[in-house]
Amino acid sequence: MTRTPVAGAQAEVIRSGPPACPAIALTFDLCPVRKGTGYDKALIDYLIDHRIPATFFLSGRWMAKHDAEVERLLEIGFFEVGTHGEVHAHLPMHSDAEQRREILGPVKLLSEHYAHEAVLFRPPYGEYNDVTVDVVKTLGLKFIQWNIESGDPDPTLSADQILARIERRAKPGSIVVLHANGKGKQTRQVVERLTADVLPRKGLKPVTVSELLSCKQPVR
Ligand SMILES: [Zn+2]
Repeated sequence: MTRTPVAGAQAEVIRSGPPACPAIALTFDLCPVRKGTGYDKALIDYLIDHRIPATFFLSGRWMAKHDAEVERLLEIGFFEVGTHGEVHAHLPMHSDAEQRREILGPVKLLSEHYAHEAVLFRPPYGEYNDVTVDVVKTLGLKFIQWNIESGDPDPTLSADQILARIERRAKPGSIVVLHANGKGKQTRQVVERLTADVLPRKGLKPVTVSELLSCKQPVR
């Protein structure tokens, strides 16, 4: 994988998998929401019905209101579940101890209430500083960002625009960030068209983040 050592902590932040791997990771953040159900059931049912591997990043505040949905995500063998902070804090504004608490909250909840050891972590808003990287490393977690921002929560973007944006950038080893909390009004349509048409055409197979990171298959 492309983890050439760079200055300081940046080397620990993963934005993509091996560029030789003919696969792509679709990732869905479950950030807390103030309005609505916070769960895009149609999207998740589509992924389940079509057996599409996907990775979810759950925030603690979201989990507190979605016990049955957490159970559902965990029981699907081709889904991977990581964490996304406790209250969706802006991590760089916080001290070492506060960042640690924010990061650890949902990791502990998943472990203690759901017997799931979550290793993947994505910071809320994708925001972090050197302290964040250190804390994540100390906790033994993997720091997962993305190299394709779908823009799916943006209400001004149409499904065509979001799809075009992903299609233009999608290449072997890509990690795409999307949302499964209902914020992305076009997300289900985008994912349907991606998985039924765009990705097969590009020879990219959807896999979980961990599968992507351990993928050694060369492009044929
Ligand atoms: Zn988020």
